[in-house]
Amino acid sequence: MRSLGVKIMPIYTIKLLKKEDIAEGTMAFHFEKPEGFAFKAGQFADYTLLNPSQTDEEGNVRGFSLASAPFENDLMSATRMRDTAFKRVLKDLPIGTEIKLDAPYGSFTLHKTETTPAVFLTGGIGITPVRSIIAQATKDKLPHKITLFYSNKTPKDTAFLNDLETFAKENPNFTFVPVMTRTILNEWNGETGHITSDILKKYVPDLISPIYYLSGPASMVATMRQILTEAQVNEDNIRTEEFSGY
Ligand SMILES: Cc1cc2nc3c(=O)[nH]c(=O)nc-3n(C[C@H](O)[C@H](O)[C@H](O)COP(=O)(O)OP(=O)(O)OC[C@H]3O[C@@H](n4cnc5c(N)ncnc54)[C@H](O)[C@@H]3O)c2cc1C
Repeated sequence: MRSLGVKIMPIYTIKLLKKEDIAEGTMAFHFEKPEGFAFKAGQFADYTLLNPSQTDEEGNVRGFSLASAPFENDLMSATRMRDTAFKRVLKDLPIGTEIKLDAPYGSFTLHKTETTPAVFLTGGIGITPVRSIIAQATKDKLPHKITLFYSNKTPKDTAFLNDLETFAKENPNFTFVPVMTRTILNEWNGETGHITSDILKKYVPDLISPIYYLSGPASMVATMRQILTEAQVNEDNIRTEEFSGY
């Protein structure tokens, strides 16, 4: 997947340790972390299936964000389980199977200036790099003020909901704003509907100062960018990670 001119990273062979359902149609895959492997929260990896039982024209490699944080023991990625050859094989992969890891890549990482707030706007599977960043910021007790707006249809569709609620309890600098678009009455006490500039202003009174992070499929990133443009946010303060392939 990598383009010319990008620094070549070592390639590792790693074993699958665990797989779990984490939301409707969404699974997380835990792999062993290779000796000496280091990455920054928010980066991604290319995973290659070795001798898969089936394949298609899209091939045996996919890039997935590392949803685990650098301090955590395993490498973990999560994906929506669509019906493609790669994902059918991944879903049925026996524990202990070896795959190839080419990583880390990307610069979707938290800015250094502690006094500049960070605002994350994401939805669905776009949460993966954000989980890593917020888990690490919580562990490191970073002073950055972080606000996460996270859109899903219902709580059942919301990957890492429990983790994020726990980070919000542990980290006084982290404000978690889950937003559900299709909730049943009495099922959800939080924000509902779509993320709008009004919801943003409710939690981030000064919309001009933060650095904004948008992640997920290209259409989702475009929608989030539009919300920020409407709210008069400066383009220079918007960083994105587009999940090409969705
Ligand atoms: C930096 C980066 C980080 C990423 N991080 C993640 C991540 O954390 N988690 C994650 O899930 N993905 C992530 N992706 C996207 C990932 O690499 C895959 O492209 C994506 O998961 C789709 O893979 P697939 O096997 O489902 O579809 P593919 O086989 O790759 O599909 C190729 C094309 O076929 C079409 N297609 C296939 N199946 C369907 C379907 N059921 N419905 C509609 N269209 C379809 C789509 O148009 C798609 O463009 C990331 C991508 C990048 C570049």
